[in-house]
Amino acid sequence: MTFESLGLSAPVLQAVAEKGYTQPTPIQEKAIPIVLMGRDVLGCAQTGTGKTASFVLPMIDILAEGRAKARMPRSLILEPTRELAAQVAENFDMYGKNHKLNKALLIGGVSFDDQERALERGVDVLIATPGRLLDHFERGKVLLNDVKVLVIDEADRMLDMGFIPDVERIVGLLPPLRQTLFFSATMPPEIKRLADRFLSNPKEVSVSPPASTAKNIVQGLAVVGDEDKREALRRLIREQDIKNAIVFCNRKRDVALLQGSLKKHGFNAGALHGDMSQPARMETLDRFKQGEIQILVASDVAARGLDIADMSHVFNFDVPFSPEDYVHRIGRTGRAGKTGHSFTLATPAEGDLVQAIEKLIGADIPRVPIPGMEALALEAGDGRRGRGRGRGRGRGGRPERGEGRGPRPDRGEHRTPRETPTATAEAAPVETAPRPPREPRPHREDRPSRPPHEGRESRPPRESRESRPARVSGGQHPSRRERRPERDDGTQKRGLGDHVPAFLSRPSR
Ligand code: AMP
Repeated sequence: MTFESLGLSAPVLQAVAEKGYTQPTPIQEKAIPIVLMGRDVLGCAQTGTGKTASFVLPMIDILAEGRAKARMPRSLILEPTRELAAQVAENFDMYGKNHKLNKALLIGGVSFDDQERALERGVDVLIATPGRLLDHFERGKVLLNDVKVLVIDEADRMLDMGFIPDVERIVGLLPPLRQTLFFSATMPPEIKRLADRFLSNPKEVSVSPPASTAKNIVQGLAVVGDEDKREALRRLIREQDIKNAIVFCNRKRDVALLQGSLKKHGFNAGALHGDMSQPARMETLDRFKQGEIQILVASDVAARGLDIADMSHVFNFDVPFSPEDYVHRIGRTGRAGKTGHSFTLATPAEGDLVQAIEKLIGADIPRVPIPGMEALALEAGDGRRGRGRGRGRGRGGRPERGEGRGPRPDRGEHRTPRETPTATAEAAPVETAPRPPREPRPHREDRPSRPPHEGRESRPPRESRESRPARVSGGQHPSRRERRPERDDGTQKRGLGDHVPAFLSRPSR
C-alpha cells in the first residue's frame, strides 16, 4: 500500500515524501482512512509502530480548513509525559510544514508566559500533558469548548501515572460532539472501560496483540546477586557491540548512582530522571540523540515513549515492577524494522516479577550468563506480582548459593551474550508461543507497579495544587506504601510521621 492511496492531501503527501517514508506502517494504513472519515478510533499500538503519524497526518488535513479563535484550540492531544508531548509537536512541525497550522505545547517545567502567548494567538493543535493543561484552564487561559478532535495517547501510561482523573476532567470540559482518537499500547479492562466512555462507535485498529514484544528484539535475562549487578552490567556492556543504549532503573536514586559508577569505569553515560529540571532533561536527551552520550541511565517516567532512532540496546538494571513496563522498555530498541537487543538483570528474589513478564509476553526470556560470573537461579514465586517480595534481604541480600530451586528445566543451556541467538532464531518463539490467558490486573491498591504520583513529575510547580497534601490515588493503605522503596517521583510515604494526633491515642469505647 502507498501513502497516496490513504486519502491524504497533496501537501501532506509531499511532507511525508520529503521525510523519506515510502510506505505507510500497518497502523497508518489502518488508522489514517478511518480518521479522515471522521470516525472515532480505538487504536492498540505501541510507540515505534508509526502511531504518531497515524493521527498527526490526517489531523493536519482535517484542520486545514478553518481558523482558531484566541484561547479556543480546535484540537487537543493529551500525552502522559513532556517528552512525548514534545515529540508529537515535532511531528506536527515536520508533517505540517506545508500548512499554516498554529500549535501550542503545554508541558510542565517551562514558563507559563510563552504558553499563554501561544494560546492567545489561537491554536489549531494543542498538545499537552494533563496537569499543565488543567493549570491553564484554572487560570482561565484556555477554553476547551471548541475542540473538534481529541487524541488520548498512551492511555495505559496515563492510567499508570495516575492521570486518569485529570483526563476524565478534561474530557468533561470538551464538547460531546467531537472526534476522539484513543491509543494505548495495552488494553487492560480499565482502559477498555475508559475507551467505552470516551469513544462513540469507534473503529478498533490493532497492529500487534496487546503487550506483545517485537519480533526483532533479541532478549536475554541474567540472574545475579544484588551486589553484583553493576559488575554484571559492565560485563554485559563490554561484551555487546553497543551503538547506544538505555539502562532502565526502577528508582531515580539508582539512576544517578549507576550513572556515576558507569562514568567512573570509563563509560560515556548520562542520566535522565524525574528530579532533573525540564531544560536539563531536554539537553541530556538531545545529547543522547546526537550520539554525544552513548549510554543513558534512565527511569521509566523519564524515558517513556522516547523515539530514538537506531537504539541498539536496552538494559533493565532492575526487573520492572509491572510487566507492561517491560514491554515498553524493550520497545525502545528494535524500532523501524531494525534488530535490537535487550538484557535484563534479575536477582534471585525477583522470580515473581520475571514470571509475570513471561506470562504477559507469552514466552520465556532466554537466560544468558554473564561472562565470568556464576549464574544464579530465580526463586520460584507464588505467582503473585508482589512488588518487592524478597526485597527484605536488602541491597546486599545475596541469597545463599543454592537457595533458589535451580534453573528451570526448560531453559536450555546457557549461552554467552555474544552467542545470543539471532533475532529470527530466538525472538520468534516469543511471538509464536501461545499466550496464556492474561490474569486480570489487580486493583490499583494492590498493584505494585508504580506509585500513584509517579507522573506528577510532569507537573509544574503550582500554587494551588502543589500546596495541597499529596493525593493518595486509589486509597493506598499507608502501611503498604511505607514498605515501598523510593521511586522516581520520590514519593516514599511518610504517613503521619512521628506525629500521632491525640484523638488516635484515645482509647475507643
Ligand atoms: P512512533 O511510533 O510514532 O513513535 O514512530 C516510530 C518511528 O517510526 C519514528 O521515528 C517515525 O519517524 C518513524 N516512522 C513513522 N512512519 C514511518 C513510515 N511510514 N516509514 C518509516 N518510518 C516511519
